[in-house]
Amino acid sequence: MPQDHAHAPDAHKLVIIGSGPAGWTAAIYAARARLDPVVYTGVPKQDPGPILPGGQLMLTTEVENYPGFPKGVMGPEMMGLFQQQAERFGTTVLMEDIARCEFSKDPAKVPHVLHTAEGKVVKAHAVIIATGATANWIGLPNEMRLATSGGGVSACAVCDGALPPFRDQPLAVVGGGDTAMEEATYLTKFGSTVYIIHRRDSFRASKVMQERFLSRPNAKVLWNKVVVDVLGKDHIEGVELEDTVTKERSTLAVRGLFVAIGHTPATKFIKGSGLEFDEAGYLLLRRRDSHTNLPGVFAAGDVSDAQYRQAVTAAGMGCQAALDAERWLAAAGVH
Ligand code: NAP
Repeated sequence: MPQDHAHAPDAHKLVIIGSGPAGWTAAIYAARARLDPVVYTGVPKQDPGPILPGGQLMLTTEVENYPGFPKGVMGPEMMGLFQQQAERFGTTVLMEDIARCEFSKDPAKVPHVLHTAEGKVVKAHAVIIATGATANWIGLPNEMRLATSGGGVSACAVCDGALPPFRDQPLAVVGGGDTAMEEATYLTKFGSTVYIIHRRDSFRASKVMQERFLSRPNAKVLWNKVVVDVLGKDHIEGVELEDTVTKERSTLAVRGLFVAIGHTPATKFIKGSGLEFDEAGYLLLRRRDSHTNLPGVFAAGDVSDAQYRQAVTAAGMGCQAALDAERWLAAAGVH
């Protein structure tokens, strides 16, 4: 028989960190299960690229593959709807960052302690981590300088591509996955020519996304090329390329460079907390469920999923985490 603990008066039953599809879905389920969840959405920041409450979908235009929206839905609109649904059932939403976590070994009795970036202490018997993953950068000598100064280097075409300096200019996207295709296709609306620069001779992107880009009259692909630096003082004027086969160097005149080479899970704030990660830094789950290696700590969405990283899979994982947390709290006797 589980010991029965009324939840500590100064502790929440459940705190959810993150506000993408995983976080909001967890909140919908947890709120309906009367767990009075509190969602810490995070605050908007540059780190070094844009990070917004709502996650990656806030940097997306149209989402066509989320079931239930036969005509598609804009990413930010969808996250607004998720939030409204979570709030309808009594979720508390706080636009703050959790900066550090001290996880308890026996969280049913001694709650986990979370520290906000502003120095507040938050206690919770159960925690769901749903902080997602952020865009990667190549690491070029002049990449960040021209990215942080608005100099025409960006990791988000959807956020920046429509800006005046990119209109009717040659633009380049780095990467060969679905993100690169999506960003490059979007840019074909604005740029004179849009190059995809890819380090191999084939794309890993889905065929439909490749075709969508390649069908645009101003689309071009540079195969077997890597960018070795960004040229330009205040604004990008071109990129220096190296052929991965011949090692030959060349320059390409572009007025915008959009980096689309994958993502890194947002786990900095839980490093050293005792949680386990895989080699790529994603939170390791115990089995096919959402339990991490620590009791009363669950994970959902891109922070723990290097494989699928879709809005719908993240939402499904959010549901699993809320159900797992609910069952764990009940089994631990926290009510
Ligand atoms: P990804 O599939 O991991 O692709 C990353 C791409 O960047 C790869 O082509 C990789 O090259 C290249 N790359 C990685 N590091 C590089 C470096 N340092 N220099 C140059 N190139 C580098 O990432 P993603 O495109 O962001 O997609 C992630 C997931 O989201 C995928 O599952 C994708 O299907 C999904 N997604 C779906 C949609 C949609 O359906 N609407 C849209 C966007 C993303 P290699 O190929 O040589 O490894």
